[in-house]
Amino acid sequence: MTIVDLTSMGEPQTEQQREINARLVSLQNEISSYCYQCAKCTSGCEAHKLLELEPHKIVALLKRGLINELVNSDIIWTCMTCMKCRERCPQRVAPIEILFALKNMAVASGKQIPGKYTAMLQSILSLGLIQDIQQITTRMNTTVKRDELGLPPLSKPTDAQKFQAAVMKIATEKV
Ligand code: SF4
Ligand code: SF4
Repeated sequence: MTIVDLTSMGEPQTEQQREINARLVSLQNEISSYCYQCAKCTSGCEAHKLLELEPHKIVALLKRGLINELVNSDIIWTCMTCMKCRERCPQRVAPIEILFALKNMAVASGKQIPGKYTAMLQSILSLGLIQDIQQITTRMNTTVKRDELGLPPLSKPTDAQKFQAAVMKIATEKV
């Protein structure tokens, strides 16, 4: 179901709407009602080009209080966290923070999340990195390791148990 389909459905959920607006304010952004639908966020959105994410429509649905519809939509997981929407918004609304809040709500309500996210979390828990260190392919079509490029080794958590407990605490915190 697309976001456009969702705009014609549902009753407003004002409590979750307040929760998300409170998050925006706590992160020094403006609340969603400041959005005047100029779509500057969408015109620069990296996920819009490939995955049809339209941040201005996310904000429009939040303004209408249609939170459950957003939380249940796959489109919220397509944000690439490039931050351009926050940089471009003339009203300082920050659609990216709205998307983070919606994703947190989806996790908190037990929705199934895309496999890539669970793989990243597992990697963070075991390595402290979202993915293991990769070799890169050069223009000459050879592969090189990090140390061969003269880069310093990356640090890993010294106390794995403490680190994992801290990550899980952050991962389960509300919105
Ligand atoms: S750039 Fe800001 S004001 Fe314009 S549509 Fe996006 S969120 Fe709304
Ligand atoms: S942070 Fe997400 S929503 Fe914002 S412009 Fe980048 S991809 Fe689009």
